[in-house]
Amino acid sequence: MLILTCPYCGVAADETELAPGGEAHLRRHGPDSSDSDFEAYLFLRRNPRGLHLERWRHAHGCGKWFHAARDTMTMEVLGTYPAQVTAPPPEIVHASDADTA
Ligand SMILES: [Zn+2]
Repeated sequence: MLILTCPYCGVAADETELAPGGEAHLRRHGPDSSDSDFEAYLFLRRNPRGLHLERWRHAHGCGKWFHAARDTMTMEVLGTYPAQVTAPPPEIVHASDADTA
């Protein structure tokens, strides 16, 4: 079972308390973008083997969105962090690097 710690309220919630929101850190394209850029934003998602950055909502808790870093091979959760940041914290990226070394 997937257990994620909400970075806002600190509760370690299992997946029945959470709602998935898909891939994190998607870059939106503005009105001047090409059709292919907009199509990629809407439909194309990464499906990596290893570190995956995801959006989750603590639906049956505080209700806030947050990000989680998870290894898709081992299901290890490398950390969670607030949704307002544009990139994962360095300690999560370094933890992922150490796992693959
Ligand atoms: Zn929460």
